[in-house]
Amino acid sequence: MEFKKNNTVILRIEDMSQDGLGIGKAEGYALFVKDTVIGDLAKVKILKTKKNYGFARLEELLEASDKRTEPKCPLARPCGGCQLQMMKYEEQLRWKEQKVRSDLQRLGGFQEIPMEPIQGMENPFRYRNKAQFPIGYDREGKLVAGFYAGRTHTIIPADDCLLGSESNRRILERILDWMEQYGIAAYREDTGKGLVRHALIRSGFATGEIMVCLVINGKQFPRGKELTESLTQIPGMTSITFSSNTRRDNVILGDSYEVLWGQDYITDSIGEIRYQISPLSFYQVNPVQTRRLYRQALEYAGLTGKETVYDLYCGIGTISLFLAQRAGKVFGVEIVPQAVEDARANARLNGITNAEFFAGRAEEIVPRQYREQGIRADVVVVDPPRKGCGEELLETMTAMAPEKIVYVSCDPATLARDLKYLCARGYELKKVRAFDQFPQTVHVETVCLLSNRKPDTKVRVDVDLEDYYRIKDAEKNQN
Ligand code: SAH
Repeated sequence: MEFKKNNTVILRIEDMSQDGLGIGKAEGYALFVKDTVIGDLAKVKILKTKKNYGFARLEELLEASDKRTEPKCPLARPCGGCQLQMMKYEEQLRWKEQKVRSDLQRLGGFQEIPMEPIQGMENPFRYRNKAQFPIGYDREGKLVAGFYAGRTHTIIPADDCLLGSESNRRILERILDWMEQYGIAAYREDTGKGLVRHALIRSGFATGEIMVCLVINGKQFPRGKELTESLTQIPGMTSITFSSNTRRDNVILGDSYEVLWGQDYITDSIGEIRYQISPLSFYQVNPVQTRRLYRQALEYAGLTGKETVYDLYCGIGTISLFLAQRAGKVFGVEIVPQAVEDARANARLNGITNAEFFAGRAEEIVPRQYREQGIRADVVVVDPPRKGCGEELLETMTAMAPEKIVYVSCDPATLARDLKYLCARGYELKKVRAFDQFPQTVHVETVCLLSNRKPDTKVRVDVDLEDYYRIKDAEKNQN
């Protein structure tokens, strides 16, 4: 059989890729097929071929997998934001847990994984407290807010996203009405002209407070009074700001913002801690799961009230303040200066006096504090972005030899790499638990507990992080 563009093939979907594409094989040749689920028997049309694999689109579903469910959102397929919406929720959870396990085995070299059951959600929709809608024109030139179709920059109109808050729709309607009424143009990517680019909406689920930040292609905000008069009729409206972004790239927000109405932040709470969140700061998007995740991190940290704790990649101090309730002293380190300011304000807001925050790169600050001030932690919590911890940081961590390390990760692959490093230098992987922070999508969060086997000896074993890159490269080349 020949595998070339436009040919049709019938195959059984047997696996799923990291980004949620179904994988089936025909005569040993692997095809990646969007919109399919493991177990489907599908007629697919080949779109693109490479030596060992290709991509195809679903033409006809001949036999539906028992893992399938009807997506709730009519736009699930064109949108592409919810890669797993056509999979039953319990199957999504099973897949995510397995993904963590297999990454730890394959990339981390662990055999027995001390995994606890994945923590899912009771209601896996409407969980996001933050949404960013691009504003522009549809094919007919009509002003719309929505989302980008797949990987393109064509906006598909959608005033509701089933992962987000119900009030978003009313807010977008008012923004579009205001633009129509006062002849305010939306930004056009092709020409770089037009004003309004994005609407960022954040809601404090615990407080009901709402923030709207409009991203504009310009410095001046016209008709601000008319916009705020309209938006403030929405219950809970607390902060209306704009951020100027005149760059022609894919970054959504500008570097700063100005207030149009109200405060420049909203407040939310997770557990007993209240947080102040400004437009440019990172804040976890799923508050229900975040509370559970932080509780787990706290439980793994096993604090008694005396410990010195580092919270690295601390954002606005979310985890730090949770830990501070049970620790002697907490040091938070974060690279974004505004987030550090939020973190300090949050400590004050909660009357927490045993938390101190530093702005800078964790991989520079921790080694320096250790060398120069002899600051050593009993427990280190890390919550890095997808690329994981830097090697310098891992090295200092092992030199500092905290009794426990709690690793919170949003990427199981870099987690596996970093755990391999730590476990070759005297740490033992005690517990692993996956959390579904992002139902309907392929993303998964993981919390791990590591404990120091020999607190007084500095074991030097040579594992190189090169192993990780070698495996990853080999996989890439295979594809
Ligand atoms: N722990 C926080 C934030 C986690 S997100 C929470 O749960 O809310 C990761 C954070 O790491 C972001 O705030 C990002 O700005 C920060 N960051 C990225 N690179 C960093 C680095 N090299 N050093 C310190 N912080 C960094």
